Amino acid sequence: MEVYLDNSATTKPAPAVVEMMTKALTEEWYNPSALYRPAMEAEKKLSSARKTCLKAAGASGQRLIFTSCGTEADNIAICGYLRSLHQPGRVLILNVEHPAVLNCAQEAERLGYSVEHIPVDHRGVADLAKLESMLGEDVRLICVMQVNNETGAIQPIEEIVRLKQRLCPKAAVHVDGVQGFLRVPFDFNKLGVDSYAFSGHKIHASKGVGALIVRKGHKVSPVIFGGGQEDGYRSGTENMPGILGMGEAVSIYPADAPAKMAALKRRLYDGLMKSIPQAVLNGPELDDPAAAPHILNVSLPPVRSQTMLFALEGDGIYVSAGSACSSHKQKVSSVLTAMGLTNAMADCALRFSLCAENTEEQIDYVIARVKAHYDLLSKYTRR
Ligand code: PLP
Repeated sequence: MEVYLDNSATTKPAPAVVEMMTKALTEEWYNPSALYRPAMEAEKKLSSARKTCLKAAGASGQRLIFTSCGTEADNIAICGYLRSLHQPGRVLILNVEHPAVLNCAQEAERLGYSVEHIPVDHRGVADLAKLESMLGEDVRLICVMQVNNETGAIQPIEEIVRLKQRLCPKAAVHVDGVQGFLRVPFDFNKLGVDSYAFSGHKIHASKGVGALIVRKGHKVSPVIFGGGQEDGYRSGTENMPGILGMGEAVSIYPADAPAKMAALKRRLYDGLMKSIPQAVLNGPELDDPAAAPHILNVSLPPVRSQTMLFALEGDGIYVSAGSACSSHKQKVSSVLTAMGLTNAMADCALRFSLCAENTEEQIDYVIARVKAHYDLLSKYTRR
C-alpha cells in the first residue's frame, strides 16, 4: 500500500485541475492581454479565477495578484511593502515563520528597517503578552503565518490585529496563508489584515502558481518589472494553466475536508499514543482551537526521524522530518527548538500531513508500521 502523508510539502493535483490545465494548454492557450476574441475569453477566465480565490479567502472586493508560488507572494507582500514605505522603523516577524518570510529579513535590514522576532509558547503559538510588549508606534509591519507548516499551530491573527489597532494602528499585517488557506477558516475582510499569501500546490492545484491578496489602498511596490500585467504589480505573461487550475482547485475544495482530516488526525494520534507510550506531541493538543486539522507532529524518542522516515519509505509510507524545504539540510528544526524542544527531541520529530483523500485504512496501516519499526529501532538506538 502507498500512503502519502506529506501533504504540507505538496499535494496531488485533483483530476478536475489536471483536466482544466490540459484544456488551458491545448485549447485555451491564448495570451489574456491580447485583443481578439479567444484571448478575451481567456481574460474572462482569468478574472473569474481571481474572483473565486478572493471569495474563498473572504476578500471579495480586494486586489489579488497571481504569482509563481507562495514564496513570491510573501516576498511581494514584505519587500514590496517595505520598499514603498520609505519610513524607517521595526518589522516584527514570528520566529517560526517559513523561510519564505523569515529570509525577507535580510532585505528588510538592507532597506534600513530593524527586524525583531516574535516568540512562541510551548505549543508554537505566538506569545501575545510578549508581542504586546514589543508593539509601539515605530512598528511598520507584523508578519504572522496562519498555520505553522511543521506543527499545525494556528496563529491568533484576530488578537494580533486587535493589539496592533490599539498600540500601532498604522502598522501593516501580512499573513502567510500557505498552510491554512481553505483548511482553516479565514475571513480577510473581517480580520482587517493588509495582505495574505497562498500557494496552488498545497491545495491540489499545480506547482508554479500562487497568489497575494492585498487590501485595496495598501501599497506594495512590484518586485518584478516588465509589461505591466497584474495591474503592474507582477509583470510577466500570466501562467494561465496554473491559474485556471488553481481557480478550479479552490472552487471544488470540499467543505467537509477539514472535518475529515481532523478525524483522521485524531485516529492517527490516538493510535500512535496508545501503541508507543514514549511518543510526544509537538504542537497544540488536538482539542485546542489552535490545532489545525491536517498536521500532526510527534517525536518518537530515541528513534531519529531520518531513520524512521527511511524505514517507513520501505513500506510505501511518505512522511517528513521537519519541513520539506529544510529536510535536505542536516539541521535540527528551528521551529521545534523555538518551542522549547531539546535538540535531541527535535531530532526525533516526524510530521504527518493529511489530505481529505487519506483513508482510515491507510492511517491504521501507518500506525502499525510505525509501531513495528519503533519496537525494533528503539532497541538499537543509543543516545
Ligand atoms: N509558507 C509556508 C508556511 C509554507 O509551508 C511554504 C511551503 O512549504 C511556503 C510559504 C512556500 O510556498 P511555495 O512552495 O509555494 O513557494
